[in-house]
Amino acid sequence: MNDVQFQEFCRIFEDIFAKNRISEYDTPENRQKFAILAEYLIEESQKYNLTALCSMDKIIPLHFADCVIAAKYIPTGAKVLDVGCGGGFPTLPLAIVRPDITVYGLDSTAKKLGFINSAAQQLQISNVCTLTGRAEELVCDRRENFDIVISRAVARLNILSELCLPFVKVGGSFIALKGSAGAEELAEAQKGIKILGGRVEKTEKYDIFTCVGEEKRVNIIICKQSTTPTAYPRQFGAIKKKPL
Ligand code: SAH
Repeated sequence: MNDVQFQEFCRIFEDIFAKNRISEYDTPENRQKFAILAEYLIEESQKYNLTALCSMDKIIPLHFADCVIAAKYIPTGAKVLDVGCGGGFPTLPLAIVRPDITVYGLDSTAKKLGFINSAAQQLQISNVCTLTGRAEELVCDRRENFDIVISRAVARLNILSELCLPFVKVGGSFIALKGSAGAEELAEAQKGIKILGGRVEKTEKYDIFTCVGEEKRVNIIICKQSTTPTAYPRQFGAIKKKPL
C-alpha cells in the first residue's frame, strides 16, 4: 500500500470506527495492522475463495468494525474460540484490538486457517491459534475449555448452539453475532439452548454504520449455566436433520 492508499484507508477507518463508537481501538498501531490485514485479504482473495468483500469501503465496516464491536463482551485475559472463523472473522480483529486475550480460530477449511496463520505472522501478533476440523468432531478434546465461544455467519442459531455450547466452560459465554434474523432464530433455538446448559443473558440489537448506510445486527449472549450432556453435539447430519 502506498502513502496515498494508506491515507485513504485511514480516512475510512477513522470515520467508520467513530460512527460505530469503537474509536478507543483507533490507535496508530491498530491502523497499521488493519491496513496490512486488508491489503493481504484483498491480495489472497484473488487467488482463492476467502471473502466476498474485496474493497476497503466494505472490508473496514463489514469485517473490521463488525467484529471489533464484539470486543466489549470479552473479559480480560479470556481464552476465546471462534467457531467457523473462515478467513479470520472475528478471530483476527479481536486478536489485534485485544492483546490480553488468546483467540483460537476453528474451521474445517485448512486453506483459510493457513491465511490466518500467515496474517498473524505479518501482523506480529502471537495471541492467535488455529484448529482445523469440524466443530462437532474437535469438541472431544476441548469440551468446556473456553471462557468465550463466538461465531459469525456459520449456521442458524438452533444448529450453531449445539456446535458451540459444548466448548464453553460453565460460567463462560457463547456469543452469536447475527444479522436481522437473530431474534427469529433465537425463538426457534430457545429449547435447545436450555438442553445444552445455556441461558440467554441478553440480546443486543443495533445498526452497524457502513460507508453507504446502516445494517441491522443482533448479538445474542448466552451464558453457560450447567454442563452440556455428553450426548451433544451429535453428528452433523443429525444436528441438521433434527435441530434441538
Ligand atoms: N466467520 C467467518 C466465516 C463465515 S463462512 C465470517 O464471518 O466471515 C462459514 C465458515 O464456517 C466456513 O469457513 C466453513 O468452513 C465453516 N464451518 C461451517 N460449519 C462448520 C463446522 N461444523 N465445523 C467447522 N467449521 C465449519
